[in-house]
Amino acid sequence: MSGAHSLGPDGQGRGSGDFVFDMRSLGRQPGTFRDETRTARAPDGLGSGLVLVPAGADVALDLRFEAVSEGVLVTGSAVAPLKGECARCLDPLTSSAEVSFQELYRYGPDPGEDEADDEERFLDGDRLDLEPAFRDAVVLALPLSPLCREDCPGLCAECGVRLADAGPPHGHGEDTDPRWGPLRQLDVSDRIED
Ligand SMILES: [Zn+2]
Ligand SMILES: [Zn+2]
Repeated sequence: MSGAHSLGPDGQGRGSGDFVFDMRSLGRQPGTFRDETRTARAPDGLGSGLVLVPAGADVALDLRFEAVSEGVLVTGSAVAPLKGECARCLDPLTSSAEVSFQELYRYGPDPGEDEADDEERFLDGDRLDLEPAFRDAVVLALPLSPLCREDCPGLCAECGVRLADAGPPHGHGEDTDPRWGPLRQLDVSDRIED
C-alpha cells in the first residue's frame, strides 16, 4: 500500500497533510505513473456563500501521478461532502461535489522565473501538495444557489411559510386574516417569483 505514509511530518491532526503526496517512489522517468486513492480530511475554510465543505470531512481522492519532463502531472477526481442551506427555503441541506482536475506540478522554476507566480505549481522537493489545486477545483464547483431539491417551491412571499410544508393550495385570497387588509392594497402582482 503506497498510501501508508499519508501524513506529512507536521500533518498530524492538521488535515492539510492529508493532501501531501511523496513522489520519491515515482521517480523522474517520463511516462512512469502511479495510481493512488486516499481518503483525506477536508481543510478549513472551503466554501462560499450558502454552501461549504465541512472541515475535517472525508474527501475521496482518486489520482494518477505521471512523471513528465518538467515535473509531475496529476490527473484525478475528488468527491467532497457539502453542507449548506437551500437558496430558496433556507432549509439545511447536504449533498456532495465531485470535481476532476489535471494539474502540472513542475520540479522548479526556470532560471530567472518568478516562483511566486500564482498560475504555476511546484513540487517541494519530493513532496507534492495537492491542497491548492483541490481548493481551486472545489471552489469552482460549488453551486451558487444550492437547492434542497430541484423543484423547491421556496417561501411564501407574503407570510414566509415554507411552501413545501404548507402544501397547495396556499394563498392569501379573500379569506385572509383582516389584519393583512392594508397590506393587500400593495401591488405585488409584478413581483418576480424565483
Ligand atoms: Zn428548499
Ligand atoms: Zn403565505
